[in-house]
Amino acid sequence: MYDLIIIGAGPAGLSAAVYGKRAGLDLLVIEQTPMGGGQVVNTYEVDNYLGLPSINGFDLAQKFRQHADGMGAVFQTGKVAQINDDGEKKSVELTDGTVFEARTLILAGGAEHAKLGVPGEEMFRGQGVSYCATCDGAFFKKRDVAVIGGGDVAVEDAVYLSRFCRRVYLIHRRDSLRAAKSLQEKLFACENVEVVWDSTLLAIEGSDLVEKIRIRNTKEETEREIQVEGVFIAVGMHPDTEAYRELVACDENGWLIAGEDCATNVPGIYAAGDIRTKTLRQIVTAISDGACAVASAERYLS
Ligand SMILES: Cc1cc2nc3c(=O)[nH]c(=O)nc-3n(C[C@H](O)[C@H](O)[C@H](O)COP(=O)(O)OP(=O)(O)OC[C@H]3O[C@@H](n4cnc5c(N)ncnc54)[C@H](O)[C@@H]3O)c2cc1C
Repeated sequence: MYDLIIIGAGPAGLSAAVYGKRAGLDLLVIEQTPMGGGQVVNTYEVDNYLGLPSINGFDLAQKFRQHADGMGAVFQTGKVAQINDDGEKKSVELTDGTVFEARTLILAGGAEHAKLGVPGEEMFRGQGVSYCATCDGAFFKKRDVAVIGGGDVAVEDAVYLSRFCRRVYLIHRRDSLRAAKSLQEKLFACENVEVVWDSTLLAIEGSDLVEKIRIRNTKEETEREIQVEGVFIAVGMHPDTEAYRELVACDENGWLIAGEDCATNVPGIYAAGDIRTKTLRQIVTAISDGACAVASAERYLS
């Protein structure tokens, strides 16, 4: 029986591990990927984490993990399928049936990429369709690619890809971008990026690999085909809260309902980082949540 089980080894979970160990808690961190690090691993450059300007995401994630390792945090690789609450005892079941028990839980499973659900998206996943430009962009050197979306991530992806792709089409359904102004300035300075306004993706087509996309201009009500070999989908995130929804209250979009103290509706269960209802999903807020969730768990334990 652990004092605390932390689910997810992204910034929130690793911060909780550091704070938990410092508080002398007997804790376990469960992470589905071998290294953890969360979304940060797939981030090309992090430029807004205080004290570490322009750090590569992978390097930052490694620093987080090394810090938690150095504090003596114990890690278990596995995907959590279900959690149960039996008052003073909470249990966590992995997809392979292994069960762990603790007196408190911190849910720090973060968020994942939203899908568009268009024809060809699933079929060509890994065959030209990607949700991570920093992971897969290098496969498309000197090729034409499309990025779908209009927020920070889509614009960051388009700028990044423009450095080595021949041509980058940014397909956006509106006539203005949601991305930060500083990112938009970088985008408009890229000569090989074409922003295709007011357009939605209809289909991704090809034989074995992606060959083209079909888009629709919603203002002019016209259709157009663009020859591309890569399609990078960056249309937002949604939480991976399937395993918790029966027990922990979520909002209408599936985010776990919790405030700054990270307390959910279930005593002894806390939600930290991107997974919870909040206005700013960033590394710094996730790390802050990790600390707040441990403080709340400590209060509950005592
Ligand atoms: C492309 C991109 C660029 C970004 N750039 C920046 C930036 O420059 N600055 C910034 O501050 N933020 C940036 N962010 C946002 C930032 O990465 C996130 O806000 C932050 O990683 C959230 O941390 P988290 O720990 O809450 O969740 P995550 O990072 O999502 O980590 C969650 C972890 O939980 C694990 N997990 C999930 N479900 C389970 C389960 N059932 N069982 C076991 N393990 C599970 C996952 O594998 C993952 O490792 C960026 C995000 C992306 C995608």
